[in-house]
Amino acid sequence: MKTKAEPSHPPVWLLMPDSQPKRARSAERLTRPRQAAPPLDEEALRDRLRAIRTDTANHLDELLGQLTSTLQEQYGVTSLEATTAQEAADEIARLASPSRRVLVNRSATVAELRPYLKAHGLEIVETYDEQFVHPDQGVERYWQLEPPSAETAWEAFRPQAITPSPRQSTDIGVLGVNVAAAKDGTVFFVQHLFNISDILERASKIVLVIGVERVVRDRDAAAFVARSQACYGALSVALGVPRRGGDSKGEVPVGRSLTPASPVRDAAHVPMHAILLDNGRRAWLSDPRYQDLFLCIGCRNCLLECPTQPYYGGETGWTPRDYLAAFLRGDSSSLRECITCGRCGARCPLDIDLPAMISEAKAEAGATRWQDQFYCNIGTLFQASSLTAPLSNWLFNWPLARLPMEWVSEMDRERKLPAFHRNTFLNQYRRRSSAPASGRAVVYYPGCYANFTDPELSWAVVGILERNGFRVLAPEHQCCGVACFPYGAKELAQRYARRRLRVFGPLAQEGYTILVSCPSCGTALERDFPYLLPESDDARLVAEQTRDVSDFLWALHQRGELDTDFDPLKLRVGYHTPCHLRVRDLGPENLRLLELIPGMEPIDIDRGCCGMAGSFGMRRAHREESREIGRYLFEELRSPGYDLGITNCAGCEMQMRAGSGRDVVHPLKLLWRAYSNSGSK
Ligand code: SF4
Ligand code: SF4
Repeated sequence: MKTKAEPSHPPVWLLMPDSQPKRARSAERLTRPRQAAPPLDEEALRDRLRAIRTDTANHLDELLGQLTSTLQEQYGVTSLEATTAQEAADEIARLASPSRRVLVNRSATVAELRPYLKAHGLEIVETYDEQFVHPDQGVERYWQLEPPSAETAWEAFRPQAITPSPRQSTDIGVLGVNVAAAKDGTVFFVQHLFNISDILERASKIVLVIGVERVVRDRDAAAFVARSQACYGALSVALGVPRRGGDSKGEVPVGRSLTPASPVRDAAHVPMHAILLDNGRRAWLSDPRYQDLFLCIGCRNCLLECPTQPYYGGETGWTPRDYLAAFLRGDSSSLRECITCGRCGARCPLDIDLPAMISEAKAEAGATRWQDQFYCNIGTLFQASSLTAPLSNWLFNWPLARLPMEWVSEMDRERKLPAFHRNTFLNQYRRRSSAPASGRAVVYYPGCYANFTDPELSWAVVGILERNGFRVLAPEHQCCGVACFPYGAKELAQRYARRRLRVFGPLAQEGYTILVSCPSCGTALERDFPYLLPESDDARLVAEQTRDVSDFLWALHQRGELDTDFDPLKLRVGYHTPCHLRVRDLGPENLRLLELIPGMEPIDIDRGCCGMAGSFGMRRAHREESREIGRYLFEELRSPGYDLGITNCAGCEMQMRAGSGRDVVHPLKLLWRAYSNSGSK
């Protein structure tokens, strides 16, 4: 018969930056005997992480039961499985009594409890920012960081065991655990400097808050997950510090050392308690739309490029993953500020498709206001404005009309709108007198912008393609419906997709390549249609056969088939990659194409999102945020080094022009200009 365990504590391991190689090597020997450091193969890492996390998802009850009994039987640590954050906070308040001070680490799990702990009148002390020397002078955006190689980041963190040592304080430590091993009860924390060791040293009692998804089978698996969290989260730490800052003016308090605490051999017993927090997590598993969220390791890498995170990140620094989790817990406002740029999905080491899940969640919330519906159907506005041009152009530029328009539609009266053409590109194209009768045929889809407001761009595309021996087919115009996505109007987006597929489906079946010059239309055809209509073969086929024009031309050049007889254009141009190209791994081919023009000096300006984000930047409510997001890009473009701004997206173009005062054009217009100058037209 088992005797009741003497109170002790489960093994606590910290993963922290390796500042003392000798100590690290010995920790390395302890944790991974007879193994060399693994090379970082990101695909293998993703597969192993997914396997570990899927094991948890498939055996959740078993692992939670095992962890609970290990903690109780081996260490005398009692566990509470809390269904809600309220329940967890009630337990912490009971354990804290009579103290009112709770020392917490910066953890998304603990952040869920904050409002409830505050409601109990507890004083929450978070020392995370204080540990940084100058918290108000750090970097603000991802491009200011020198990214370490994935391998270096992996090697930077070393696991070390630590023994909590009690002090005289009555404070209670509430620590969100990074990963816990069910088999032997080991808990892992990732620590960048010393705040967690500090809490372990200062608190008279420790409550381990373990999100139920953070439990894995054994210590090996836990160490692997914790190390991945450390590796992928390293950069996001640097971004979070200056925005939040500490109470102090930033100096490391006297007496503190940057050296992590060593295990204290003769430490007295520190009472520990565990709370296994569900707070809605099991529900993710039973909903196929969101079950991948359970696989998340909480590394925070998805926040690195999120344009709105700095403005809507909340006091605890939410990540896009937290936007979604909060929504699923009933906070219907948490997704409102996501501009559906898709950048977060591109950064996840587990390839969790956060943007798709966010779209699902937005669809669940629905576009509830009529103004949202108006922006979903922006293509109709384009069409109507084109039909009524030039009257519409005059009206949109008449200040007295803009104010009531802003009241009604919420369209920012300061936003300069593009000029609409009554004679659209497709009208012009249909009445064209001469077109090549032979050549390989491709389909060109200009989208609303290039059809109604920028026929010059469409003609540049046609000119370049014909110059290279293609025959261009331009079917009747219909909006692709991409504007519906940010508002969660899924059914409307499906209707748009079906309508578009009635034309493009048969063309794709005949084997035509469909070319797009608008990054957002390209995203709709390539990504959104198969997501919206998963049963549709046409959606899949159209997605497979859609190509961005620049990507298509660059591939042509790589096969030695692009006419490179360009006249010189002596220009130094700053290129901005639109989010909807970046998330499809596109953008650099535009720079490569422009480099083919003699005298052209294209510079890649990597300053994140421009802040327009479809209709987000058009709305009065987002005027300041939209400008603030794009500020870094505008400042760079304003610098004397550039003659011109370049980007593929009409929305980015509008925003860059307004923000920087420089002229901005599509790269294909420059390419065509260089051809035209050669006298070929
Ligand atoms: S889609 Fe863009 S704005 Fe939305 S959460 Fe992801 S990165 Fe942030
Ligand atoms: S969703 Fe975000 S926090 Fe979760 S694993 Fe992916 S990048 Fe990391």
